[in-house]
Amino acid sequence: GKSSDPGKSVDLKSVFISVKTTSSFHKSRLPVILKTWFQLAKQQTWFFTDADDEHFQKETNNHMINTNCSSSHGRKALCCKMSVEFDVFLESNEKWFCHFDDDNYVNVPRLATLLANYSPQEDWYLGKPSIRAPLVILNREDKNFSKNRQNVTFWFATGGAGFCLSRALALKMKPIAGSGKFISIGERIRLPDDVTMGYIIEHMLGKSLTMVDEFHSHLEPMKFLGQDTFQDQITFSYSQYGKDDWNVVKIDGFAPRIDRTRFLSLHCYLFPYFTFCPR
Ligand code: UDP
Ligand code: MN
Repeated sequence: GKSSDPGKSVDLKSVFISVKTTSSFHKSRLPVILKTWFQLAKQQTWFFTDADDEHFQKETNNHMINTNCSSSHGRKALCCKMSVEFDVFLESNEKWFCHFDDDNYVNVPRLATLLANYSPQEDWYLGKPSIRAPLVILNREDKNFSKNRQNVTFWFATGGAGFCLSRALALKMKPIAGSGKFISIGERIRLPDDVTMGYIIEHMLGKSLTMVDEFHSHLEPMKFLGQDTFQDQITFSYSQYGKDDWNVVKIDGFAPRIDRTRFLSLHCYLFPYFTFCPR
């Protein structure tokens, strides 16, 4: 069927869902999430931001976490946030860590069915790369500074499409990347948070990314996702380019003026019995 029981929250089998956001995006990006998919995963979802916000603290039932990381878009600030997301997950009792950006729509029941296919006691890094080949970087760790510097090759899951880690894998990462050490690794290789994650898992731990095609970032053209496949997709996204051009899911529904991101319309397509959906 097109929608599972809409009023009921979905059995997420101990998933810790973290959403990265920043204070200047709270007003523009959080309301549509809170109105839609957050309602299906209220207990499991946490927003990681960089300032206190009384309004959204209330709206999320105290699920906003101030990381005290800088609110700049720099690599350091983003690695700081990911580091806190990871550490808070480790302190939780959940079996899966799933990271998303604040411009993602998460198809909650589909995420649950994805994870049901894997054991959290095994090492799993589930996500989708945004490049066609693994990343190749010059190894800065190498002691032999001038000679014999080796290239390092690894895949990473695009943060903007969402990715999940099993607890078993996270526990193996803990000694090298826990308690803020994630930031130092990001500093050393000078790459963004999602790339750092891939470097730790694939290069440092020798585990590989399992590619899941149903994660989507706005690096992909959203309009090519067929409506008949929406229920199979795990994440969606949107972005604005130019003045009034939007990379958004193609779906009928609410007027663009009130649903620029198309997430309200998408949500009503997947869960038509939600109260704000037309019937
Ligand atoms: N973000 C952040 N701090 C910033 C800018 C962005 O934490 O200073 C977060 C933002 O909330 C989002 C993610 O980083 O979850 C990606 O940001 P955005 O979508 O603006 O840029 P993109 O990298 O996708 O082009
Ligand atoms: Mn984005």
